[in-house]
Amino acid sequence: MEVDKVVALPRLSRVAVCGGTHGNELSGVYLVRELLKAKEKVMEKEEEESVSVLMVLSNPRAMQQCRRYIDTDLNRCFTHATLSGPMSDMAPYEIMRSRELNAMLGPKGSPEAVDLVCDLHNTTANMGLCLIAYSDCDWICLHIFRHLQASHHRSYIHMEKKLILCLRVRFT
Ligand SMILES: [Zn+2]
Repeated sequence: MEVDKVVALPRLSRVAVCGGTHGNELSGVYLVRELLKAKEKVMEKEEEESVSVLMVLSNPRAMQQCRRYIDTDLNRCFTHATLSGPMSDMAPYEIMRSRELNAMLGPKGSPEAVDLVCDLHNTTANMGLCLIAYSDCDWICLHIFRHLQASHHRSYIHMEKKLILCLRVRFT
């Protein structure tokens, strides 16, 4: 009988949970607000958290207007070119906001960046819980998927590699 080897993986120290990246998707907004309330209670009790969890309302202007975005899709503003290109006061709101978020949670790809970003979205498609990852070998995401797969009957995992490879797996 083969025994699985125990592998020591690096510990997560900073996690971000983002809601409202699309301002008309209210589940993430609700969850982030509830997590903020729960965090306040933890702070009142002076309990020490083992992991720093940052709750972020990503696109407050779009949330106020219950719109997907104001000028452009925030979800498409996190390319290195957009984050580091020239900037003016006339830049679209979401491009300015992506830079603020990159300063808060990143810089993207740097050792200072958070270890994991959970960006919460809604869909009107009848597809249950859906998880999108950008790698099929990210151990953190694979553990989260496995945990959710065990606790949900209908969940989908969608993996994208540079927007070329799309793999959809349905777990029943
Ligand atoms: Zn969305």
